[in-house]
Amino acid sequence: MAWTNYHNHCHYCDGKFSVEDHVISAIEKNLIALGMSSHCPVDFENGWSMAKKDIPGYFEEIRSAKNKYHEQIEIYTSLEIDFIPDIVSPSDLFITELKLDYTIGSIHFVEAFEDGKPWEIDGSTALFERGLAEIHQNDIKKVVQKYFNLTRQMIRDTRPDIIGHIDKIKMHNRKKPFFSENERWYRNEVEETLKTLAVTGGIMEVNTRGLYKKYSDTPYPSPWVISRAYEMDIPVCINSDAHTPDEITLAFEYAASLLKEAGYHTIQVLLKDKWQSLPFDNQGVIIS
Ligand SMILES: [Zn+2]
Ligand SMILES: [Zn+2]
Repeated sequence: MAWTNYHNHCHYCDGKFSVEDHVISAIEKNLIALGMSSHCPVDFENGWSMAKKDIPGYFEEIRSAKNKYHEQIEIYTSLEIDFIPDIVSPSDLFITELKLDYTIGSIHFVEAFEDGKPWEIDGSTALFERGLAEIHQNDIKKVVQKYFNLTRQMIRDTRPDIIGHIDKIKMHNRKKPFFSENERWYRNEVEETLKTLAVTGGIMEVNTRGLYKKYSDTPYPSPWVISRAYEMDIPVCINSDAHTPDEITLAFEYAASLLKEAGYHTIQVLLKDKWQSLPFDNQGVIIS
């Protein structure tokens, strides 16, 4: 019985710890594979993306951990790549040339403020409210539809291996009910997005960060979305989006139980450089 986690941030972006710190913790937590996925470089200032000049150091630090710990754990190199049309995308040449072991595509920005600065939708609730008012005249439906439109465009046009936190736009609802997930228009957006993913292909991660950081009462995505994904035969993996080594397996047991309840019997794991389906239970994947 063992876990895997392909969504982890270290000191090259907004994490604080070294790759080796993450690897040591992952081995202690009985992981058989760990993927590092720093926030990819972007051409504008923000508090959490990796600098382009640091890419060689990032690769080197992962390579050296691989050499040192290859008998205990498989280590993979990736980036969590933003999709901002005309700015950055998982299919950009500079990304494909890096020959990452896999890619995570995520939406963190929806349109831009008047000064051109992209609006970060997963920052503070105050920043969310500012963008909502200034860019979208407080039309939450328009913002959410734009978010899912971008998600679908990213899936269709750039085909990341893993879709990061597919319904993260719900995260501010815990502080203030901006919208209800029961509203028909919201359900339609999710439904359309899952359909796109089912047709195009790609793994939907169940991301536990919102849960253990208490940003959300449910993982990304919500249990009802996981159930719909199962009905559409969409493959899934469990990731924690860890920014510190102690977060590597947080809420994994719960995520596994939600997947089981939805009907899933297997999750996707990258082992021996190949994505494969393995059976799992609340203690992790089962290796025969
Ligand atoms: Zn993210
Ligand atoms: Zn992340």
